[in-house]
Amino acid sequence: MNKDLRKVVIAGNWKMNKTRPEAKALIEELKPVAAKATCDVVICVPFTNLETALDATKGTNIKVGAQNCHFEKSGAFTGEVSADMLAEMGVEYVVLGHSERRQYFGETDVTVNKRVKAALAAGLKVILCVGELLEQREQGVTEEIVGMQTKIALQGVTDEELKNVIIAYEPVWAIGTGKTATAEQANEVCKYIRSVIADLYSMADACEFVIQYGGSMNAKNAEELINQPDVDGGLIGGASLKAADFGVILEAGSNCIA
Ligand code: PEP
Repeated sequence: MNKDLRKVVIAGNWKMNKTRPEAKALIEELKPVAAKATCDVVICVPFTNLETALDATKGTNIKVGAQNCHFEKSGAFTGEVSADMLAEMGVEYVVLGHSERRQYFGETDVTVNKRVKAALAAGLKVILCVGELLEQREQGVTEEIVGMQTKIALQGVTDEELKNVIIAYEPVWAIGTGKTATAEQANEVCKYIRSVIADLYSMADACEFVIQYGGSMNAKNAEELINQPDVDGGLIGGASLKAADFGVILEAGSNCIA
């Protein structure tokens, strides 16, 4: 569906991996690989690596993202980092609502929505993660779950702000498990999310809206997934930690058939 209206975005989610020297070394390996890419390239690194990543990627086509931010501007929230703090550093993207945050850190659709609004107000671009559990897929409620997550997360987000939002459809059963959704399953849900965006905003907004797939995307399966009509790139965990594998995925993103 009008794939030529959208840019492919390939984002690495490093999760809780890499010390600063390790991060620098991986970015140095990534630079020549990423330089060839015509798709957008993002690395979402731990907070402790943001400064290192921003320095190391200066003058390159690699954009830097964080993996979370708090919804309050400042205050007594020990251990948290605000959207303004990230924006002031020069961070461009933030991943919000990742299933690991929902599963291990009590994140809910309502707190994801608050974070989305805070991030957008600070001028950050949001990679909003949605996705169903295995039992929810088996119960036949994937669309209901993903639709609800999308609608709540975007409550109060204006048409203009939507331009700074990407959704990553990440079936929870496929994250870090080696079990990838089939290309058809991935496309079906991404297409459904696009229809939710059309209902909430407009068909024109939906046609331009970037929807990634995430969940065990790797050097072998990326091409097929990214070439699906409603899949506009990927959010990649494990495979983003290996420059060669991430490079193959970037190549798939760059050669994506419109
Ligand atoms: C992720 O962390 O968002 C992810 C998709 O992880 P993996 O690629 O390792 O499944």
